Amino acid sequence: MRCEIIAVGTELLMGQTLNTNARNIATELFALGVGVYYHTVVGDNEARLKEVFKNSLERVDLIILSGGLGPTDDDITRDIVAEVLELPLQRNEYWVKKMEEFFRRFKRPMTQINLRQAMVPKGGTLLPNDRGTAPGIYLEKGAQIIVLLPGPPRELAPMFKEQVIPRLQEKLGEQKDLGVLKSRVLRVVGLGESAMVEKIKPILDSQDNPTIAPLAKGAEVHLRLTARELSGERAETLLQEKLQEIREVLGDYIYGEGEETLEMAVTKLLRDKAKTIAAAESCSGGLLSSRFTDVPGSSACFLGGAVTYSNEAKSNLLGVEENLLNTVGAVSAEVASAMAGGARKLFKTDIGIGITGIAGPGGATPEKAVGLTFIALEADDCTLCRRYQFWGSRLEIKERVTQAALYLLRLYLLGKLQENDTRSGAENKVD
Ligand code: AMP
Ligand code: MG
Repeated sequence: MRCEIIAVGTELLMGQTLNTNARNIATELFALGVGVYYHTVVGDNEARLKEVFKNSLERVDLIILSGGLGPTDDDITRDIVAEVLELPLQRNEYWVKKMEEFFRRFKRPMTQINLRQAMVPKGGTLLPNDRGTAPGIYLEKGAQIIVLLPGPPRELAPMFKEQVIPRLQEKLGEQKDLGVLKSRVLRVVGLGESAMVEKIKPILDSQDNPTIAPLAKGAEVHLRLTARELSGERAETLLQEKLQEIREVLGDYIYGEGEETLEMAVTKLLRDKAKTIAAAESCSGGLLSSRFTDVPGSSACFLGGAVTYSNEAKSNLLGVEENLLNTVGAVSAEVASAMAGGARKLFKTDIGIGITGIAGPGGATPEKAVGLTFIALEADDCTLCRRYQFWGSRLEIKERVTQAALYLLRLYLLGKLQENDTRSGAENKVD
């Protein structure tokens, strides 16, 4: 089944609103095995929408339109679709009643123009909307399927999931010969995109089915494998074989699959090993703590964090010696180590992490460039600090710093942290 998503709205063309509906719909369709061939955006303009819709009827089996179902004159999707398909619009009395109830509940008068929202092209099915007054419409014309959905993402997303996907699944069941798409994402940390590509080059060069796509994603790299086969089972087997081949080469550079984040993977390791942790953060401003607390159940291992941004906070809360701060400076291996020890003592944990660095854009000195960061880890069996030179904007540096800290922790928890191991991205060992 070939699909085109047409997002209607001048605000999308102008860049005022990001076309998140297309992304949402495409993600869901991909999981169903539907090939999305085109994303189109068109303004609230009759002639151009007509042209785009006609064009789409020529080239795909499934057309999903988002937006332009409101009550005002610039909401033209319903009328254009009915006109092009030469279907008369009929009033759906069920929806008229629903809208009357809706307006009564909010003590607002229902205007005549709202009645436009109850009009459905003949033969179409109205898709009720629990969150607004614009219903969706599901239509089959010959072998083609046309779906109209309201623009607001919070209305579109549940309508698509609950009312459109089941209908599409039924259709796909009738057309088994078109095959299914299955995909998996492997998440890699500790290797840049090009380094990873180099390692798996023979696998990438000989790819066929599944296809393999590397994607740099923030501070990590993802590998998406996609198999197309007649049976879902066969696609799954092909994926498993290729995943195994890649796992053999990349080993524990792969930390997770699918939606699993690095903080989830590290939290799982901490829980499995029954270890507790605390963080003392300076340049990362609490981002590491925030990432831990994004993970449900992290309270079992993440006991607390201290954002110690000033020298006073570092010495008052963590017991970092003032003398140290005055001599080697806040951005130093010694201070990072003292912060890790201080956090461990303060929160009485097995592991303490200390982070100090220069997130920029200001604050650099001739000896210490923007992005210079020290990350220290302290535990009974391990005391170390690594020096990193990150690059990017302030927020990118914060992201990379926490990524490196999580990766360092992962290596430690896996027992893979070797004395002179620079896999964590550290420039050189500082103790
Ligand atoms: P409409 O259904 O065209 O009246 O759209 C209502 C509102 O939904 C717009 O003002 C946008 O804020 C939002 N919206 C419309 N289309 C999209 C889209 N493709 N992605 C994200 N938001 C959208
Ligand atoms: Mg609109």
